[in-house]
Amino acid sequence: MAADEPAAVYSNRGGATFKIYGTLIGHGDSVSDGRDRWVDVDLFRTDTGDYAVHRAGMSRVYHRVGNATCTLRGGQPKGLLAVRADLPEGAVSCDVCEPPYPEELEDDEAVLFEFPRHSVKSFATPQEAVTDLFSVRGDSGRGFSPSRPAMAALAQARKNDEGFSVIGMEMDIR
Ligand SMILES: [Zn+2]
Repeated sequence: MAADEPAAVYSNRGGATFKIYGTLIGHGDSVSDGRDRWVDVDLFRTDTGDYAVHRAGMSRVYHRVGNATCTLRGGQPKGLLAVRADLPEGAVSCDVCEPPYPEELEDDEAVLFEFPRHSVKSFATPQEAVTDLFSVRGDSGRGFSPSRPAMAALAQARKNDEGFSVIGMEMDIR
């Protein structure tokens, strides 16, 4: 790979595109659960020696436009407008609002697809990256709870990066 090529490019539908320049040092996901929604976690060492944490909420599910059942907490519809050409292979029709199956969709028929939701943060040290990796935000505030994908990404990073290989599992909470 040429040095000026990003190691990864992540685009949010209708939103920001993240280009990460550096080296992928760890990956974890919850794909093996066999569900239609999963998370990806990636750790990078950047070209400038920082560390980047990429998270993505992934889904194969699309919904019927104008349905009254599949909404987020705030009442907004789940998913963003898409046509069949926008759907990935393996896209699945929501079994609650029941839009047509992929092969039954007209080319210009709109559905609401749960496009990937990417976020990237960068940190100066492995310890800061790990602290973020293990952070969860709930209704009652910030907590620390290593997810299986986060643990998998960390295990790989320990093998692939000297900085990660020497850090412990202690979390400094201040
Ligand atoms: Zn639905």
